[in-house]
Amino acid sequence: SEEKSLNFIEEIVENDLSSGKYETLVTRFPPEPNGYLHIGHAKAICLNFGLTQKYGGYTNLRFDDTNPVTEKTEYVNSQQEDIKWLGFNWKNELYASDYFDKLYSFAVKLINKGLAYVDESSADEIATLKGTPTEPGTDSPYRNRSIEENLDLFTRMKNGDFADGVYILRAKIDMASTNMLMRDPIIYRIKHAEHHRTGNKWCIYPMYDFAHGQSDSIEHITHSICTLEYVSHRELYDWFIEKLEIFPSKQYEFARLNLTSTVMSKRKLLQLVNENLVNGWDDPRMPTISGLRRRGFTPKSVREFCERIGIAKRENLIELSLLEFCIREDLNKSANRVMAVLDPIKLIITNYEKGTEDLIGENNPEAEDGGGTRVIPFSNELWIEREDFMEVPAKKWFRLAPGAMVRLKFAYIIKCEDFVKDENGNVTEIHCTYIPESKSGSDTSGINVKGTIHWVSAQHAKTAEIRLYDRLFTSETPDAEEGDFKDYLNPESLKVIPNAYIEPALAHADLEGRYQFIRKGYFCLDKDSTNDKLVFNRTVTLKDTFKK
Ligand code: ATP
Ligand code: MG
Ligand code: MG
Repeated sequence: SEEKSLNFIEEIVENDLSSGKYETLVTRFPPEPNGYLHIGHAKAICLNFGLTQKYGGYTNLRFDDTNPVTEKTEYVNSQQEDIKWLGFNWKNELYASDYFDKLYSFAVKLINKGLAYVDESSADEIATLKGTPTEPGTDSPYRNRSIEENLDLFTRMKNGDFADGVYILRAKIDMASTNMLMRDPIIYRIKHAEHHRTGNKWCIYPMYDFAHGQSDSIEHITHSICTLEYVSHRELYDWFIEKLEIFPSKQYEFARLNLTSTVMSKRKLLQLVNENLVNGWDDPRMPTISGLRRRGFTPKSVREFCERIGIAKRENLIELSLLEFCIREDLNKSANRVMAVLDPIKLIITNYEKGTEDLIGENNPEAEDGGGTRVIPFSNELWIEREDFMEVPAKKWFRLAPGAMVRLKFAYIIKCEDFVKDENGNVTEIHCTYIPESKSGSDTSGINVKGTIHWVSAQHAKTAEIRLYDRLFTSETPDAEEGDFKDYLNPESLKVIPNAYIEPALAHADLEGRYQFIRKGYFCLDKDSTNDKLVFNRTVTLKDTFKK
Protein backbone atom coordinates (compact mmCIF):
# COMPACT_ATOMS: atom_id res chain seq x y z
CA SER A 1 0.00 0.00 0.00
CA GLU A 2 1.09 3.54 -0.59
CA GLU A 3 3.14 5.39 1.99
CA LYS A 4 1.06 8.05 3.71
CA SER A 5 2.72 11.18 4.98
CA LEU A 6 2.37 11.89 8.68
CA ASN A 7 -0.02 14.54 9.94
CA PHE A 8 1.49 17.19 12.19
CA ILE A 9 0.29 15.52 15.37
CA GLU A 10 1.80 12.19 14.34
CA GLU A 11 5.07 14.04 13.74
CA ILE A 12 4.98 15.50 17.25
CA VAL A 13 4.17 12.09 18.73
CA GLU A 14 6.95 10.35 16.79
CA ASN A 15 9.45 12.96 17.96
CA ASP A 16 8.34 12.76 21.57
CA LEU A 17 8.57 8.96 21.57
CA SER A 18 11.91 8.74 19.78
CA SER A 19 13.49 11.46 21.93
CA GLY A 20 12.40 9.57 25.02
CA LYS A 21 10.29 12.47 26.29
CA TYR A 22 7.54 9.94 26.96
CA GLU A 23 7.74 6.20 27.13
CA THR A 24 4.06 5.54 26.65
CA LEU A 25 1.64 7.55 24.57
CA VAL A 26 -1.57 8.37 26.44
CA THR A 27 -4.44 10.23 24.77
CA ARG A 28 -8.04 10.80 25.79
CA PHE A 29 -11.37 11.49 24.18
CA PRO A 30 -13.20 13.93 26.47
CA PRO A 31 -16.85 14.41 25.49
CA GLU A 32 -19.21 16.44 27.59
CA PRO A 33 -22.28 14.23 28.16
CA ASN A 34 -24.67 16.96 27.08
CA GLY A 35 -25.87 15.43 23.82
CA TYR A 36 -25.25 12.70 21.27
CA LEU A 37 -21.93 12.52 19.45
CA HIS A 38 -21.73 13.80 15.88
CA ILE A 39 -19.47 13.30 12.89
CA GLY A 40 -17.16 16.05 14.19
CA HIS A 41 -16.60 13.99 17.31
CA ALA A 42 -15.89 10.99 15.08
CA LYS A 43 -12.93 12.93 13.70
CA ALA A 44 -11.57 13.53 17.22
CA ILE A 45 -12.26 9.88 18.17
CA CYS A 46 -10.44 8.54 15.10
CA LEU A 47 -7.53 10.87 15.79
CA ASN A 48 -7.10 10.07 19.50
CA PHE A 49 -7.74 6.34 19.30
CA GLY A 50 -5.94 6.12 15.96
CA LEU A 51 -2.74 7.50 17.48
CA THR A 52 -2.53 4.86 20.20
CA GLN A 53 -3.50 2.10 17.74
CA LYS A 54 -0.55 3.19 15.62
CA TYR A 55 2.04 4.04 18.26
CA GLY A 56 1.00 1.90 21.22
CA GLY A 57 -0.03 3.23 24.61
CA TYR A 58 -3.70 3.78 25.30
CA THR A 59 -6.66 6.15 25.11
CA ASN A 60 -8.97 7.03 27.98
CA LEU A 61 -12.62 7.88 27.63
CA ARG A 62 -13.20 10.77 29.98
CA PHE A 63 -16.59 12.33 30.41
CA ASP A 64 -16.05 16.04 30.87
CA ASP A 65 -19.00 16.34 33.23
CA THR A 66 -18.35 19.47 35.26
CA ASN A 67 -21.53 21.28 34.32
CA PRO A 68 -24.37 19.67 36.29
CA VAL A 69 -27.18 21.44 34.46
CA THR A 70 -26.75 20.04 30.94
CA GLU A 71 -25.44 16.56 31.59
CA LYS A 72 -27.36 13.29 31.59
CA THR A 73 -26.68 9.59 31.95
CA GLU A 74 -28.61 8.96 28.73
CA TYR A 75 -25.89 10.87 26.91
CA VAL A 76 -23.09 8.99 28.69
CA ASN A 77 -24.59 5.73 27.47
CA SER A 78 -25.17 6.85 23.90
CA GLN A 79 -21.65 8.26 23.65
CA GLN A 80 -20.16 4.95 24.76
CA GLU A 81 -22.29 3.04 22.29
CA ASP A 82 -21.20 5.31 19.45
CA ILE A 83 -17.48 5.03 20.20
CA LYS A 84 -17.75 1.23 20.35
CA TRP A 85 -19.74 1.18 17.14
CA LEU A 86 -16.96 3.13 15.42
CA GLY A 87 -14.67 0.27 16.41
CA PHE A 88 -12.62 1.73 19.25
CA ASN A 89 -11.94 0.53 22.81
CA TRP A 90 -10.90 2.79 25.61
CA LYS A 91 -8.55 1.75 28.39
CA ASN A 92 -10.28 3.53 31.31
CA GLU A 93 -13.78 4.93 31.62
CA LEU A 94 -13.31 8.10 33.65
CA TYR A 95 -15.32 11.09 34.76
CA ALA A 96 -14.02 14.58 35.47
CA SER A 97 -16.58 14.58 38.29
CA ASP A 98 -14.57 11.80 39.97
CA TYR A 99 -11.85 14.41 40.39
CA PHE A 100 -14.00 16.99 42.20
CA ASP A 101 -12.22 16.36 45.52
CA LYS A 102 -8.83 16.55 43.86
CA LEU A 103 -9.76 19.70 41.92
CA TYR A 104 -11.00 21.26 45.14
CA SER A 105 -7.65 20.55 46.79
CA PHE A 106 -5.88 22.06 43.75
CA ALA A 107 -7.90 25.24 44.26
CA VAL A 108 -6.94 25.30 47.95
CA LYS A 109 -3.31 24.87 46.93
CA LEU A 110 -3.52 27.90 44.65
CA ILE A 111 -5.11 29.95 47.44
CA ASN A 112 -2.32 28.90 49.80
CA LYS A 113 0.25 30.00 47.24
CA GLY A 114 -1.46 33.39 46.98
CA LEU A 115 -2.53 32.55 43.43
CA ALA A 116 -6.33 32.52 43.81
CA TYR A 117 -8.88 34.73 45.54
CA VAL A 118 -12.57 34.88 46.29
CA ASP A 119 -14.33 37.72 44.50
CA GLU A 120 -17.76 39.09 45.30
CA SER A 121 -18.01 41.60 42.46
CA SER A 122 -21.12 41.24 40.33
CA ALA A 123 -20.88 39.62 36.89
CA ASP A 124 -21.24 43.08 35.31
CA GLU A 125 -18.48 44.54 37.46
CA ILE A 126 -16.18 41.68 36.62
CA ALA A 127 -16.85 42.14 32.92
CA THR A 128 -16.19 45.88 33.09
CA LEU A 129 -13.00 45.50 35.10
CA LYS A 130 -11.74 42.91 32.63
CA GLY A 131 -10.86 45.64 30.13
CA THR A 132 -10.74 45.10 26.37
CA PRO A 133 -8.27 43.32 24.12
CA THR A 134 -6.55 46.67 23.49
CA GLU A 135 -6.76 48.08 27.02
CA PRO A 136 -5.59 46.46 30.25
CA GLY A 137 -8.09 45.48 32.91
CA THR A 138 -8.37 46.79 36.45
CA ASP A 139 -7.73 44.82 39.62
CA SER A 140 -10.80 43.75 41.54
CA PRO A 141 -11.14 45.44 44.96
CA TYR A 142 -11.12 41.90 46.43
CA ARG A 143 -7.91 40.83 44.74
CA ASN A 144 -5.77 41.27 47.81
CA ARG A 145 -7.80 39.42 50.40
CA SER A 146 -5.63 37.50 52.84
CA ILE A 147 -5.01 33.81 52.30
CA GLU A 148 -6.89 33.06 55.56
CA GLU A 149 -9.95 34.99 54.45
CA ASN A 150 -9.88 33.34 51.02
CA LEU A 151 -9.64 29.89 52.61
CA ASP A 152 -12.53 30.66 54.95
CA LEU A 153 -14.78 32.00 52.18
CA PHE A 154 -13.95 29.18 49.77
CA THR A 155 -14.71 26.60 52.48
CA ARG A 156 -18.05 28.27 53.13
CA MET A 157 -18.77 28.38 49.39
CA LYS A 158 -18.25 24.62 49.37
CA ASN A 159 -20.38 24.17 52.51
CA GLY A 160 -23.36 25.80 50.89
CA ASP A 161 -23.44 28.98 52.96
CA PHE A 162 -24.08 31.17 49.92
CA ALA A 163 -26.55 31.44 47.09
CA ASP A 164 -25.60 30.99 43.43
CA GLY A 165 -23.45 33.80 42.09
CA VAL A 166 -22.64 35.51 45.40
CA TYR A 167 -18.97 34.53 45.32
CA ILE A 168 -16.59 33.11 42.78
CA LEU A 169 -13.04 31.89 43.01
CA ARG A 170 -10.59 33.46 40.56
CA ALA A 171 -7.00 32.69 39.67
CA LYS A 172 -4.70 35.62 40.40
CA ILE A 173 -2.69 35.99 37.24
CA ASP A 174 -2.41 39.25 35.32
CA MET A 175 -5.16 41.79 34.67
CA ALA A 176 -2.99 43.38 31.99
CA SER A 177 -2.25 40.22 30.02
CA THR A 178 -2.73 40.50 26.26
CA ASN A 179 -4.52 37.15 26.55
CA MET A 180 -7.95 38.00 27.99
CA LEU A 181 -8.23 34.48 29.42
CA MET A 182 -5.26 35.22 31.67
CA ARG A 183 -6.98 38.21 33.29
CA ASP A 184 -7.81 36.46 36.54
CA PRO A 185 -10.13 33.78 35.10
CA ILE A 186 -12.97 32.37 37.16
CA ILE A 187 -12.11 28.87 38.31
CA TYR A 188 -15.00 27.92 40.63
CA ARG A 189 -18.62 29.02 40.77
CA ILE A 190 -21.48 28.35 43.15
CA LYS A 191 -24.25 26.31 41.58
CA HIS A 192 -26.85 24.60 43.71
CA ALA A 193 -27.70 21.91 41.20
CA GLU A 194 -27.88 18.15 41.24
CA HIS A 195 -25.14 16.43 39.29
CA HIS A 196 -25.82 13.23 37.27
CA ARG A 197 -23.14 11.37 39.26
CA THR A 198 -22.29 13.28 42.44
CA GLY A 199 -25.91 14.16 43.23
CA ASN A 200 -26.06 16.97 45.78
CA LYS A 201 -22.60 16.47 47.25
CA TRP A 202 -21.30 19.65 45.65
CA CYS A 203 -22.71 23.12 45.27
CA ILE A 204 -19.54 24.56 43.76
CA TYR A 205 -18.29 23.39 40.38
CA PRO A 206 -14.96 24.00 38.60
CA MET A 207 -14.93 25.87 35.30
CA TYR A 208 -13.83 24.05 32.14
CA ASP A 209 -10.35 25.59 32.21
CA PHE A 210 -9.79 24.51 35.78
CA ALA A 211 -10.98 20.96 35.14
CA HIS A 212 -9.74 19.96 31.73
CA GLY A 213 -5.98 20.34 31.97
CA GLN A 214 -5.92 19.11 35.55
CA SER A 215 -7.89 16.01 34.55
CA ASP A 216 -5.41 15.42 31.73
CA SER A 217 -2.58 15.76 34.22
CA ILE A 218 -4.17 13.42 36.79
CA GLU A 219 -4.42 10.77 34.05
CA HIS A 220 -0.89 11.45 32.77
CA ILE A 221 -2.23 12.25 29.32
CA THR A 222 0.83 12.96 27.21
CA HIS A 223 -0.88 14.60 24.22
CA SER A 224 -4.11 16.41 24.94
CA ILE A 225 -5.62 17.08 21.54
CA CYS A 226 -8.40 19.60 21.08
CA THR A 227 -9.82 21.93 18.44
CA LEU A 228 -8.47 25.34 17.43
CA GLU A 229 -10.85 27.37 19.61
CA TYR A 230 -8.66 26.33 22.50
CA VAL A 231 -5.42 27.87 21.24
CA SER A 232 -5.83 30.86 23.55
CA HIS A 233 -6.60 28.53 26.47
CA ARG A 234 -3.22 26.83 26.17
CA GLU A 235 -1.39 29.53 28.15
CA LEU A 236 -3.81 29.03 31.01
CA TYR A 237 -3.59 25.24 30.67
CA ASP A 238 0.18 25.46 31.13
CA TRP A 239 -0.06 28.04 33.92
CA PHE A 240 -2.24 25.83 36.13
CA ILE A 241 -0.02 22.81 35.57
CA GLU A 242 3.10 24.82 36.37
CA LYS A 243 1.72 26.47 39.52
CA LEU A 244 0.17 23.24 40.80
CA GLU A 245 3.42 21.37 40.05
CA ILE A 246 1.61 18.42 38.51
CA PHE A 247 2.26 16.10 35.54
CA PRO A 248 2.98 18.25 32.47
CA SER A 249 0.34 17.20 29.92
CA LYS A 250 0.62 19.20 26.70
CA GLN A 251 -2.23 20.58 24.63
CA TYR A 252 -2.23 20.48 20.81
CA GLU A 253 -4.89 21.97 18.58
CA PHE A 254 -6.23 20.84 15.20
CA ALA A 255 -8.93 22.18 12.89
CA ARG A 256 -12.41 20.97 13.76
CA LEU A 257 -14.54 19.30 11.12
CA ASN A 258 -17.02 21.63 9.43
CA LEU A 259 -19.39 19.97 7.00
CA THR A 260 -21.66 21.58 4.41
CA SER A 261 -25.45 21.62 4.71
CA THR A 262 -25.59 20.69 8.37
CA VAL A 263 -24.92 22.06 11.84
CA MET A 264 -22.68 20.36 14.31
CA SER A 265 -22.99 21.78 17.75
CA LYS A 266 -24.76 19.62 20.30
CA ARG A 267 -26.61 22.68 21.49
CA LYS A 268 -28.11 23.26 18.06
CA LEU A 269 -28.80 19.58 17.43
CA LEU A 270 -30.62 19.52 20.79
CA GLN A 271 -32.85 22.35 19.58
CA LEU A 272 -33.81 20.33 16.51
CA VAL A 273 -34.69 17.40 18.74
CA ASN A 274 -36.56 19.39 21.39
CA GLU A 275 -38.57 21.35 18.85
CA ASN A 276 -39.48 18.15 16.98
CA LEU A 277 -37.91 19.42 13.79
CA VAL A 278 -36.37 15.97 13.44
CA ASN A 279 -37.41 12.61 14.88
CA GLY A 280 -34.90 12.35 17.70
CA TRP A 281 -31.12 12.36 17.97
CA ASP A 282 -30.87 9.35 15.67
CA ASP A 283 -33.04 10.75 12.91
CA PRO A 284 -31.30 9.58 9.72
CA ARG A 285 -30.93 13.19 8.58
CA MET A 286 -28.92 14.15 11.66
CA PRO A 287 -25.11 14.39 11.48
CA THR A 288 -24.97 12.39 14.73
CA ILE A 289 -23.17 9.07 14.78
CA SER A 290 -26.44 7.42 15.79
CA GLY A 291 -28.20 9.16 12.90
CA LEU A 292 -25.57 8.00 10.43
CA ARG A 293 -25.83 4.47 11.82
CA ARG A 294 -29.60 4.44 11.41
CA ARG A 295 -29.21 5.91 7.94
CA GLY A 296 -27.10 2.89 6.99
CA PHE A 297 -23.57 4.20 7.23
CA THR A 298 -20.99 1.62 8.25
CA PRO A 299 -18.26 2.23 10.85
CA LYS A 300 -15.71 1.60 8.12
CA SER A 301 -17.13 4.33 5.90
CA VAL A 302 -17.06 6.87 8.72
CA ARG A 303 -13.47 5.96 9.61
CA GLU A 304 -12.51 6.19 5.96
CA PHE A 305 -14.08 9.65 5.77
CA CYS A 306 -12.09 10.80 8.81
CA GLU A 307 -8.93 9.42 7.22
CA ARG A 308 -9.54 11.24 3.95
CA ILE A 309 -10.27 14.66 5.45
CA GLY A 310 -6.97 14.55 7.34
CA ILE A 311 -5.73 16.61 10.24
CA ALA A 312 -4.99 20.27 9.54
CA LYS A 313 -4.04 23.37 11.49
CA ARG A 314 -6.37 25.66 9.61
CA GLU A 315 -10.17 25.79 9.50
CA ASN A 316 -11.83 24.36 6.40
CA LEU A 317 -15.23 23.24 5.15
CA ILE A 318 -15.72 19.70 3.91
CA GLU A 319 -18.36 18.77 1.34
CA LEU A 320 -21.10 16.46 2.56
CA SER A 321 -20.71 14.63 -0.75
CA LEU A 322 -17.32 13.31 0.44
CA LEU A 323 -19.05 11.50 3.29
CA GLU A 324 -21.50 10.06 0.77
CA PHE A 325 -18.68 9.04 -1.51
CA CYS A 326 -17.16 7.03 1.35
CA ILE A 327 -20.34 5.07 2.08
CA ARG A 328 -20.95 4.41 -1.61
CA GLU A 329 -17.45 2.99 -1.98
CA ASP A 330 -18.00 0.66 0.94
CA LEU A 331 -21.52 -0.46 0.03
CA ASN A 332 -20.65 -0.97 -3.61
CA LYS A 333 -18.39 -3.79 -2.47
CA SER A 334 -20.55 -5.20 0.29
CA ALA A 335 -24.24 -4.61 -0.41
CA ASN A 336 -26.40 -7.28 -2.06
CA ARG A 337 -28.30 -6.21 -5.17
CA VAL A 338 -32.05 -6.57 -4.94
CA MET A 339 -35.09 -5.19 -6.71
CA ALA A 340 -37.65 -2.75 -5.39
CA VAL A 341 -40.17 -0.65 -7.27
CA LEU A 342 -40.80 2.72 -5.66
CA ASP A 343 -43.36 4.21 -8.05
CA PRO A 344 -45.19 1.18 -9.43
CA ILE A 345 -47.11 0.62 -12.62
CA LYS A 346 -48.50 -2.79 -13.63
CA LEU A 347 -46.90 -4.70 -16.50
CA ILE A 348 -48.66 -7.76 -17.93
CA ILE A 349 -46.90 -10.36 -20.07
CA THR A 350 -49.64 -11.62 -22.32
CA ASN A 351 -47.84 -14.67 -23.76
CA TYR A 352 -46.37 -15.99 -20.50
CA GLU A 353 -48.29 -19.15 -19.72
CA LYS A 354 -46.05 -20.88 -17.18
CA GLY A 355 -47.82 -19.28 -14.21
CA THR A 356 -44.71 -18.61 -12.17
CA GLU A 357 -41.07 -19.67 -12.23
CA ASP A 358 -38.10 -19.22 -9.95
CA LEU A 359 -35.24 -17.24 -11.42
CA ILE A 360 -31.78 -17.13 -9.90
CA GLY A 361 -30.10 -13.79 -9.21
CA GLU A 362 -26.48 -13.12 -8.39
CA ASN A 363 -26.34 -11.14 -5.15
CA ASN A 364 -23.33 -8.97 -5.77
CA PRO A 365 -21.19 -8.87 -8.93
CA GLU A 366 -18.61 -6.79 -6.98
CA ALA A 367 -18.09 -9.50 -4.36
CA GLU A 368 -15.50 -12.24 -4.89
CA ASP A 369 -17.87 -15.13 -5.39
CA GLY A 370 -20.67 -12.95 -6.67
CA GLY A 371 -21.98 -12.87 -3.12
CA GLY A 372 -23.98 -16.07 -3.67
CA THR A 373 -27.37 -16.24 -5.32
CA ARG A 374 -31.01 -16.02 -4.38
CA VAL A 375 -34.36 -17.06 -5.82
CA ILE A 376 -36.45 -14.38 -7.51
CA PRO A 377 -39.99 -15.41 -8.39
CA PHE A 378 -41.26 -14.38 -11.81
CA SER A 379 -44.81 -14.33 -13.18
CA ASN A 380 -46.97 -12.77 -15.86
CA GLU A 381 -47.88 -9.75 -13.73
CA LEU A 382 -45.11 -7.48 -12.62
CA TRP A 383 -44.57 -4.08 -11.09
CA ILE A 384 -42.13 -1.79 -12.84
CA GLU A 385 -41.21 1.86 -12.27
CA ARG A 386 -43.59 4.32 -13.85
CA GLU A 387 -40.62 6.34 -15.09
CA ASP A 388 -39.38 3.38 -17.15
CA PHE A 389 -42.24 3.77 -19.64
CA MET A 390 -42.78 6.62 -22.09
CA GLU A 391 -45.87 6.77 -24.22
CA VAL A 392 -44.06 9.03 -26.68
CA PRO A 393 -40.40 8.14 -26.29
CA ALA A 394 -37.75 10.85 -26.17
CA LYS A 395 -34.64 10.65 -28.31
CA LYS A 396 -32.18 7.97 -27.15
CA TRP A 397 -34.86 6.39 -24.95
CA PHE A 398 -33.78 2.80 -24.37
CA ARG A 399 -36.46 1.81 -21.93
CA LEU A 400 -40.11 0.84 -22.51
CA ALA A 401 -42.27 2.57 -25.09
CA PRO A 402 -44.87 1.28 -27.55
CA GLY A 403 -43.09 -1.25 -29.78
CA ALA A 404 -39.79 -1.03 -27.86
CA MET A 405 -37.84 -3.88 -26.25
CA VAL A 406 -35.99 -4.01 -22.94
CA ARG A 407 -34.49 -6.69 -20.75
CA LEU A 408 -36.05 -7.40 -17.38
CA LYS A 409 -33.11 -7.77 -15.00
CA PHE A 410 -32.33 -11.47 -14.21
CA ALA A 411 -35.20 -12.48 -16.56
CA TYR A 412 -36.30 -12.08 -20.17
CA ILE A 413 -36.41 -9.59 -23.00
CA ILE A 414 -39.89 -8.16 -23.42
CA LYS A 415 -41.58 -6.07 -26.09
CA CYS A 416 -44.24 -3.47 -25.35
CA GLU A 417 -47.32 -4.26 -27.41
CA ASP A 418 -49.96 -2.01 -25.87
CA PHE A 419 -50.96 0.03 -22.85
CA VAL A 420 -54.13 1.03 -20.97
CA LYS A 421 -55.10 4.47 -19.71
CA ASP A 422 -57.70 5.56 -17.19
CA GLU A 423 -60.24 8.34 -17.79
CA ASN A 424 -57.68 10.94 -16.65
CA GLY A 425 -55.17 9.87 -19.25
CA ASN A 426 -52.84 8.16 -16.77
CA VAL A 427 -51.25 4.94 -17.94
CA THR A 428 -52.45 2.12 -15.67
CA GLU A 429 -51.18 -1.02 -17.40
CA ILE A 430 -48.52 -1.93 -19.90
CA HIS A 431 -49.00 -5.04 -22.01
CA CYS A 432 -45.95 -6.88 -23.28
CA THR A 433 -44.87 -10.14 -24.84
CA TYR A 434 -41.70 -11.94 -23.80
CA ILE A 435 -39.07 -13.80 -25.80
CA PRO A 436 -38.83 -17.29 -24.24
CA GLU A 437 -35.29 -17.92 -25.61
CA SER A 438 -33.92 -14.72 -24.03
CA LYS A 439 -33.64 -15.87 -20.42
CA SER A 440 -30.69 -14.27 -18.60
CA GLY A 441 -27.76 -16.67 -18.43
CA SER A 442 -29.05 -18.87 -21.30
CA ASP A 443 -30.04 -16.33 -23.93
CA THR A 444 -30.11 -17.80 -27.45
CA SER A 445 -32.44 -15.20 -28.92
CA GLY A 446 -29.71 -13.23 -30.67
CA ILE A 447 -31.61 -10.04 -29.80
CA ASN A 448 -29.64 -7.11 -28.47
CA VAL A 449 -31.41 -4.54 -26.33
CA LYS A 450 -29.88 -1.43 -24.83
CA GLY A 451 -32.06 -1.02 -21.75
CA THR A 452 -32.40 -3.18 -18.65
CA ILE A 453 -35.08 -2.39 -16.08
CA HIS A 454 -35.91 -3.80 -12.66
CA TRP A 455 -39.24 -5.27 -11.58
CA VAL A 456 -40.95 -7.36 -8.95
CA SER A 457 -43.57 -10.05 -9.44
CA ALA A 458 -46.92 -8.62 -8.38
CA GLN A 459 -48.22 -11.77 -6.70
CA HIS A 460 -44.96 -12.33 -4.79
CA ALA A 461 -44.06 -8.75 -3.89
CA LYS A 462 -44.04 -7.49 -0.33
CA THR A 463 -44.92 -3.92 0.42
CA ALA A 464 -42.65 -1.59 2.33
CA GLU A 465 -42.45 2.01 3.40
CA ILE A 466 -39.45 3.73 1.91
CA ARG A 467 -37.89 6.88 3.33
CA LEU A 468 -35.82 9.04 1.01
CA TYR A 469 -33.59 11.70 2.48
CA ASP A 470 -32.08 14.90 1.21
CA ARG A 471 -29.84 17.47 2.90
CA LEU A 472 -31.20 18.72 6.23
CA PHE A 473 -30.53 22.36 5.31
CA THR A 474 -30.97 24.29 2.11
CA SER A 475 -27.98 26.47 2.90
CA GLU A 476 -24.49 25.01 2.58
CA THR A 477 -23.53 26.96 5.71
CA PRO A 478 -26.62 27.35 7.92
CA ASP A 479 -24.43 28.51 10.83
CA ALA A 480 -23.18 31.47 8.82
CA GLU A 481 -26.57 32.64 7.53
CA GLU A 482 -28.39 35.66 8.82
CA GLY A 483 -31.06 34.96 11.41
CA ASP A 484 -31.80 31.59 12.95
CA PHE A 485 -30.12 28.51 11.49
CA LYS A 486 -33.49 26.75 11.72
CA ASP A 487 -34.90 29.10 9.09
CA TYR A 488 -32.75 27.21 6.60
CA LEU A 489 -34.12 23.72 7.26
CA ASN A 490 -34.90 21.89 4.02
CA PRO A 491 -38.69 21.25 3.99
CA GLU A 492 -38.06 18.37 1.57
CA SER A 493 -35.37 16.60 3.54
CA LEU A 494 -37.66 13.59 4.06
CA LYS A 495 -39.89 12.01 1.45
CA VAL A 496 -41.96 8.99 2.46
CA ILE A 497 -43.18 6.40 -0.02
CA PRO A 498 -45.85 4.54 1.92
CA ASN A 499 -46.27 1.56 -0.40
CA ALA A 500 -43.34 0.45 -2.49
CA TYR A 501 -43.03 -3.12 -3.78
CA ILE A 502 -39.97 -5.15 -2.84
CA GLU A 503 -38.86 -8.60 -3.85
CA PRO A 504 -39.86 -11.28 -1.31
CA ALA A 505 -36.27 -12.09 -0.27
CA LEU A 506 -36.24 -8.71 1.50
CA ALA A 507 -38.87 -9.91 3.95
CA HIS A 508 -35.92 -11.41 5.83
CA ALA A 509 -33.89 -8.20 5.93
CA ASP A 510 -32.34 -7.40 9.30
CA LEU A 511 -30.99 -4.18 10.77
CA GLU A 512 -27.42 -5.12 9.89
CA GLY A 513 -28.19 -5.83 6.22
CA ARG A 514 -27.18 -3.37 3.51
CA TYR A 515 -28.87 -3.53 0.13
CA GLN A 516 -28.50 -1.93 -3.22
CA PHE A 517 -31.97 -1.49 -4.65
CA ILE A 518 -30.94 -1.77 -8.27
CA ARG A 519 -30.88 1.67 -9.95
CA LYS A 520 -32.37 3.31 -6.83
CA GLY A 521 -29.57 3.54 -4.31
CA TYR A 522 -28.36 1.88 -1.13
CA PHE A 523 -30.91 1.06 1.54
CA CYS A 524 -31.13 -0.45 5.00
CA LEU A 525 -33.95 -1.57 7.24
CA ASP A 526 -35.12 1.02 9.75
CA LYS A 527 -35.75 0.25 13.42
CA ASP A 528 -39.39 1.38 12.95
CA SER A 529 -40.03 -1.84 11.00
CA THR A 530 -42.50 -4.35 12.38
CA ASN A 531 -43.45 -7.84 11.20
CA ASP A 532 -46.41 -6.30 9.39
CA LYS A 533 -44.67 -3.33 7.96
CA LEU A 534 -41.10 -3.09 6.71
CA VAL A 535 -39.49 0.34 6.58
CA PHE A 536 -36.35 1.06 4.58
CA ASN A 537 -34.11 4.11 4.66
CA ARG A 538 -32.20 5.25 1.64
CA THR A 539 -28.63 5.64 2.85
CA VAL A 540 -27.44 7.29 -0.35
CA THR A 541 -28.23 7.40 -4.04
CA LEU A 542 -26.05 5.48 -6.50
CA LYS A 543 -24.54 8.65 -7.89
CA ASP A 544 -23.97 12.10 -6.51
CA THR A 545 -27.29 13.78 -7.25
CA PHE A 546 -26.80 16.90 -5.17
CA LYS A 547 -27.66 19.98 -7.13
CA LYS A 548 -24.54 22.09 -6.99
P1 ATP B 1 -20.29 20.62 20.61
O1 ATP B 1 -20.42 22.09 20.48
O2 ATP B 1 -20.72 19.89 19.42
O3 ATP B 1 -20.95 20.17 21.86
P2 ATP B 1 -17.86 20.36 21.98
O4 ATP B 1 -16.45 20.56 21.59
O5 ATP B 1 -18.41 21.26 23.01
O6 ATP B 1 -18.73 20.34 20.68
P3 ATP B 1 -17.29 18.04 23.47
O7 ATP B 1 -18.20 17.00 23.95
O8 ATP B 1 -16.64 18.91 24.46
O9 ATP B 1 -18.10 18.90 22.44
O10 ATP B 1 -16.21 17.42 22.49
C1 ATP B 1 -15.41 16.31 22.80
C2 ATP B 1 -14.22 16.31 21.90
O11 ATP B 1 -14.61 16.30 20.54
C3 ATP B 1 -13.40 17.57 22.11
O12 ATP B 1 -12.04 17.20 22.24
C4 ATP B 1 -13.63 18.37 20.87
O13 ATP B 1 -12.50 19.12 20.54
C5 ATP B 1 -13.96 17.32 19.82
N1 ATP B 1 -14.83 17.88 18.79
C6 ATP B 1 -16.06 18.43 18.97
N2 ATP B 1 -16.56 18.89 17.81
C7 ATP B 1 -15.63 18.61 16.85
C8 ATP B 1 -15.54 18.83 15.43
N3 ATP B 1 -16.51 19.43 14.75
N4 ATP B 1 -14.44 18.40 14.79
C9 ATP B 1 -13.46 17.78 15.46
N5 ATP B 1 -13.47 17.54 16.78
C10 ATP B 1 -14.54 17.95 17.48
MG1 MG C 1 -16.56 20.95 25.10
MG1 MG D 1 -20.37 22.06 23.50
